[in-house]
Amino acid sequence: MTLNDIAVAYVKLVLAVGQHDNGYVDAYYGPAEWQAETAKHSLAALLQEADRLLQQCRQLPSPAPQLAVRQDFLQLQLSSVRSYIAHLAGEHLTFNAESAALYDAVSPTLTPADFDLILAELDQLLPGQGDLNTRLTAYHRDFEIPVDRLDAVFTAAINEARARTRQHIELPPEEDFRVEYVKDQVWSAYNWYKGNCYSLIQVNTDFPMYISRAIDLASHEGYPGHHVFNLLIEKRLVNDYGWMEYCVYPLYSPMSFLAEGSANYGIEVAFPHAQRLVFEKEILFPLAGIAPEKAERYYQVQAVLQKLSYAGNMVAQRYLDGEIDHAAAVAMLMKYALSDEARSTQRLRFIERHRSYVINYNLGQDTVQTYVEQLADNGGNEARWNVLRNLLEHPLSASMMQQRIAAQAQE
Ligand SMILES: [Zn+2]
Repeated sequence: MTLNDIAVAYVKLVLAVGQHDNGYVDAYYGPAEWQAETAKHSLAALLQEADRLLQQCRQLPSPAPQLAVRQDFLQLQLSSVRSYIAHLAGEHLTFNAESAALYDAVSPTLTPADFDLILAELDQLLPGQGDLNTRLTAYHRDFEIPVDRLDAVFTAAINEARARTRQHIELPPEEDFRVEYVKDQVWSAYNWYKGNCYSLIQVNTDFPMYISRAIDLASHEGYPGHHVFNLLIEKRLVNDYGWMEYCVYPLYSPMSFLAEGSANYGIEVAFPHAQRLVFEKEILFPLAGIAPEKAERYYQVQAVLQKLSYAGNMVAQRYLDGEIDHAAAVAMLMKYALSDEARSTQRLRFIERHRSYVINYNLGQDTVQTYVEQLADNGGNEARWNVLRNLLEHPLSASMMQQRIAAQAQE
């Protein structure tokens, strides 16, 4: 088998796994007949096929340097599919073993003590006294986007994110998206990439959206996040190079580490802090009917909250490894991630559904950030955009990024 043969067989394998879990195939833009022909095979048969392809992949001769990245990444994807089939068949891994097997990454082990200093910092910033969660919830109420203004605010944010991205990444003229407001989901927003440079972006309105989420979601789901990542992959890797493995996107795989990490880091690349504050104060806060003079303090608070994001990994690890029960997990999210009770409960539903996927958001972001800033070598914003675009067009896994970071640091 050649690398191209293995790539095609891998796509068909991923489609077949999708028959057992309809959330597994996040996007597919390959030939329609491959999908139509997908029969339901037993998990045992799929496991065998995954093993066969992995072995074929390992036996391939060493590729030319420019193809080594392709081969290494495909091998990691195959290994991840194999682990997911084993998971569906009932194999149980610990949280860290699972994230290593599926995403090629392990989150640092943190304890509550690691977050105490950050909580103390927040205590100084927030008005009032006493329980932090109650105070933060009360403080945040002033920053909810009223439902009847949500579309105007979100549209302004995504148009700005798109315009900024266009200045640095050439996007095809036909690329487009549609925004839909939905309810009853475990996520706050989702990008469904439909192929041909088109995305459906769904925004969940179960809870009022805070003002900071407008730019966060517009960049994360759209520009330069998931929509742009998917269209670059389709255009460059699938259509130009014919690397067919990229026409399918298995959700629980190293692709997601890069997708979520770059989508989160991309927020900051598209909206560096000072520029973001100006845009928020001049455009988004007024559109949402929120007093612009409250923006500075609000973004100080958000910066501190960002540092608590690994608390979600800590809770997910303890809960999924059976160290704490449901009530303790919600309480821990409230205490260390500081989301209110309803949002913490929703968050735990996300953790139950997607398990160690949670590490892709924060560890993914930090890894992509370190990678981009190291390779941009203090070259400023334009250099960051260039490295980011190059990364999106030439996907790397967590360990591949770490190797390059280490190599760069030695130079
Ligand atoms: Zn995402």
